[in-house]
Amino acid sequence: MAHRKPHLPTKTCPVCGRPFAWRKKWARDWDAVVYCSERCRRSRRARSGPEAGGASPPAASRTRPRSSG
Ligand SMILES: [Zn+2]
Repeated sequence: MAHRKPHLPTKTCPVCGRPFAWRKKWARDWDAVVYCSERCRRSRRARSGPEAGGASPPAASRTRPRSSG
């Protein structure tokens, strides 16, 4: 039983949806690493799949009541 694989942490890339393992180059930034590669990091905004939402605020509460007036 001398076959021991190093237990490397893994994450799933939200862009391509593929899991990627810890890399030495991410040793200091692993906690901040989100994408498997620079390519995915750049294309995170290129095409959004299931994510669809409106970023417009409700027009109802546009005017705010002023205290002083
Ligand atoms: Zn990716």
